[in-house]
Amino acid sequence: MTRVLIVEDERQLARVVQAYLEKAGFEVRVADRGDTGLAEFRRFRPDVVLLDLNLPGMDGLDVAREIRRLDDTPIIMITARVDEVDQVLGLELGADDYVTKPFSPRVLVARVRAVLRRRQPAARARRLQVGDVEIDLDAHTVTRGGQPIALTPTEFRLLTTLAQQPGRAFTREQLLQAIQETPYVGNTRTVDAHIKNLRAKLEPDPRHPRYIETVFGVGYRFRRPDEG
Ligand code: CA
Repeated sequence: MTRVLIVEDERQLARVVQAYLEKAGFEVRVADRGDTGLAEFRRFRPDVVLLDLNLPGMDGLDVAREIRRLDDTPIIMITARVDEVDQVLGLELGADDYVTKPFSPRVLVARVRAVLRRRQPAARARRLQVGDVEIDLDAHTVTRGGQPIALTPTEFRLLTTLAQQPGRAFTREQLLQAIQETPYVGNTRTVDAHIKNLRAKLEPDPRHPRYIETVFGVGYRFRRPDEG
């Protein structure tokens, strides 16, 4: 059984999330403090951790850092403020995803499934299809509605980074790292410029993107296939 640890001090919220996850077939444990959450992590060895950012006992960011030192278990951060998201998704911390309060427990269950899928190497298909866009990672080709789209190597790398993890929000820093062959201190606005070019080629209406969405205050994400 897949194990989920919830570290959340709002007990009512934790109970609701627990009920949804258990109904979805997960084994769930709840801790309501950061320090006890970390202790429970060591005992329970969960497959996924849902971690509130503001916790008594030990701050959520510190808990995440400690978990990262022990293991690469996926962490989904629960934050109350959108402006904390950048920090949460930062490479240094390496959270896998986040939800902002208030959130729908149904959406959270979907996120848990998504991070678990991403951890399975086999799930990284060599051919990605979202809507009428198809990306062939081996052939380095992109088509929309069967029509080939010519992308630069940088645009292709940017697109595949986003599309391999649909639904995941990437910060501009993360995308900059993904498209640079040699690390240098670049300007994250470079990412915006490439995204603009990519949308012009890929999107039926670049001003109303269907595939590459802007995540306000964070960066960009590729639409999940199951999103309408
Ligand atoms: Ca809290």
